[in-house]
Amino acid sequence: MRKNEVHSASRAIAKSAHGQAAGESVGKRASPVPKVDSEKLAQPTYAGCFECIGAKCEDACCGDWDIPLDKITYQRYRLFPREKLGSLVSHFVSRDPESTHDNAYAYIHPTDSGVCPFFGEDRLCGVQKQYGPGLLSTTCSLYPRSLSQVNGRLEGTLSLSCPEAARLVLLSPSLSLLESNLHSGEFKTDNVFSLAGDMGNHRKPPAHFLAVRSLLIELIRDRSRPIWQNLLMIASFSKRLDEAMTGLNLEPVPALVDQYRVALGQGPYDELEGLPRDLKRRIELVLALSSKQSARHSSGQRFRDAFWDFVEGIGSAESSAPDEDMNRFRIAESEYHRPLLDAHPFLVENYLVNHMLQHLFPYGRAGSPRFIARSASDECLLLVIQFSWVSSLLIGIAGRYREAFSTEHVISTVQSFTRAVDHIPQIHEDALAAVRQRGLDDLSGISILLRT
Ligand code: SF4
Repeated sequence: MRKNEVHSASRAIAKSAHGQAAGESVGKRASPVPKVDSEKLAQPTYAGCFECIGAKCEDACCGDWDIPLDKITYQRYRLFPREKLGSLVSHFVSRDPESTHDNAYAYIHPTDSGVCPFFGEDRLCGVQKQYGPGLLSTTCSLYPRSLSQVNGRLEGTLSLSCPEAARLVLLSPSLSLLESNLHSGEFKTDNVFSLAGDMGNHRKPPAHFLAVRSLLIELIRDRSRPIWQNLLMIASFSKRLDEAMTGLNLEPVPALVDQYRVALGQGPYDELEGLPRDLKRRIELVLALSSKQSARHSSGQRFRDAFWDFVEGIGSAESSAPDEDMNRFRIAESEYHRPLLDAHPFLVENYLVNHMLQHLFPYGRAGSPRFIARSASDECLLLVIQFSWVSSLLIGIAGRYREAFSTEHVISTVQSFTRAVDHIPQIHEDALAAVRQRGLDDLSGISILLRT
């Protein structure tokens, strides 16, 4: 039965991708489709619009993690006089003997209270105050900006682990409206990612990246069908892209792009409604992933608070039956979560588009010493897992705050989640393994991860 459902869904997607869209009005998102400036979004520059709010920040970035230090900055820090931060350097800065990458040549380790040793009681950076912004490491100068070189052009996006960046990205009615000059000199530009090429896993070099990315962004922003159906389309496309990239499928990538482009604006697919929902398995997964994450010191108190709000929201008191959790989850989604997101459809779209742009989806982003090469299908599965995880947390939190559930909750949850999860590739690998173990890594499983 499950296999039939998957085949039927694949057929529906393929049929639509060839221009024979199914059904008319199941779960159609009501708001008008905004005009997409694909060209601007295809090569984003909104990183340069960001301004740090410093001491006013509710979750300063200077805590909970080891901060990478590039080689040149490390050598300069070693020259600080003892009375001018030099003693802190000798206690808390150390060379990474295994590093092979100049941008992670050494690390600044947090103090016992979990903050950067240079972070002052005035909540400002001691290095910047003492020596000026020129002595900030590449990481500190850039964060939360993320730069990539694509097709000879510099692109800049933002990490949502910073609250101010999360506000800027999530609350913008259209990311294509945010433009800036990435060469302004206000931040360093010498730590730049690049498109993952042939990583030794038999993939061909990533051809037609901009055309692929433009299609996928337009699919995310296609409000003629629910977002879960758009993500299933993207999962189906990623699988066929992998086949094209490895030579199993001789269909050229531009032809594949054209096939899926025909589906834009064509409305929801009734046949996808046959794919399973299983709230029990979805909630079990989010509880397992979040419990494990909460136990990690680096997850931060704000993530632990968000998880606790989720638990309170779906009412998992010891005496309650598992079915009660599911009922509360369902009610929280339909009465408090969905109305807010229907009124602000760009929240979800911007979250997904920012992830795609930042991570050079679906080919991946090389240039970090912790880079892990993945297929387009695995990049897509990872996107779906993260989206399902943070959306599930938000649904529980909506149940906790009910009528008071607002965009503020969305910002703080997405920010604390991204900060806990997005910077550590091992967490991504653990999440992929957890989903595979539960057999949720095909179209049927993706449907369970996304539907309520
Ligand atoms: S988290 Fe963002 S706004 Fe807050 S201190 Fe860091 S860069 Fe500035």
